[in-house]
Amino acid sequence: MNSSPTNTAPALAAAAVANALAATEAQTAPVAAPAAAAPVAAAPVAPAAPVTSGFDALGLAAPILQAIKATGYTEPTAVQARAVPAALAGRDLLVSSQTGSGKTAAFMLPALQLLTQPHAVAGRGPRVLVLTPTRELAMQVTKAAETYGRNMGRIKTMSVVGGMPYPVQNRLLKIGVDILVATPGRLLDQMNSGRIDLSRLQLLVLDEADRMLDMGFKDDLEAIIAKIPKTRQTLFFSATLEPGIVRLAGALLRDPQRIAVDNAQTRHENIVQRMHFADDMGHKNRLLNHLLRDVEMNQAIVFTATKRSADELAQDLHMQGFGRRTAR
Ligand code: AMP
Repeated sequence: MNSSPTNTAPALAAAAVANALAATEAQTAPVAAPAAAAPVAAAPVAPAAPVTSGFDALGLAAPILQAIKATGYTEPTAVQARAVPAALAGRDLLVSSQTGSGKTAAFMLPALQLLTQPHAVAGRGPRVLVLTPTRELAMQVTKAAETYGRNMGRIKTMSVVGGMPYPVQNRLLKIGVDILVATPGRLLDQMNSGRIDLSRLQLLVLDEADRMLDMGFKDDLEAIIAKIPKTRQTLFFSATLEPGIVRLAGALLRDPQRIAVDNAQTRHENIVQRMHFADDMGHKNRLLNHLLRDVEMNQAIVFTATKRSADELAQDLHMQGFGRRTAR
């Protein structure tokens, strides 16, 4: 059984099935800033290794291919096969693809390839900026940059997201960064304080642009985009292409190549999806309790919107007599 929350109605989003009873979000470590401090990225690297997998045809540099191989990927996903060569050719992209399609690597691999060449101008400002709707997604993207870039020396990646203490963020920004992964609100805040120099920016990525609009970041996005170089390349990713998204994309992209990839997630016919409307939190919690007490329910996963509500719910359920295990 699975169900979806809505933004407006106090709908019950109690999802059950499979594994542990827990609410989960991505990792919460605030920042990652690997490798040594140098304003200009690594020197040119050797050309790609001999053909050994479907990734070899994409035109990526050897250290990136080696990192991909080490992750265990053997073939590019559909969005990677189409987006990577087009991005490497310098095109702006308008990509509709879902989470789970491999979209992160589809933009991160070309971003890393860009960093195999030094920038013409030395400086501390980022060359790649990835905007994400949530800090959790920002952390995932930061981790992907580190994973795929681990064989490239001197690539500095960091995230600028809300909730992170300013002194830490400010210190890291001073050191300099190649790939900046940020949520719009905090980024704009830091830009307005003069702590981020985006004059060297070469590649802008919007990840889950539709969610950014849904979350009310339209004005922040426009303010950020007004302040970054027009000469940049832009890769625009969105699960949906509704009119607001197309308008934003139209304002941002130059002669973009459109790439539409079917949802990679197959429909699981054995999963029943139901939506329950609840009057208020108390009602929602009683409904959840009722669902979880079903004697045939041996294991359940409950998804929540935030890490905090995951913790609170796990604690409530624990007090109601359910075993507690929170996965992050
Ligand atoms: P994403 O859509 O970027 O969130 O990626 C979804 C998942 O697919 C992540 O766990 C990736 O590590 C994984 N992934 C990305 N590319 C590939 C690939 N070519 N082969 C296998 N798994 C992949």
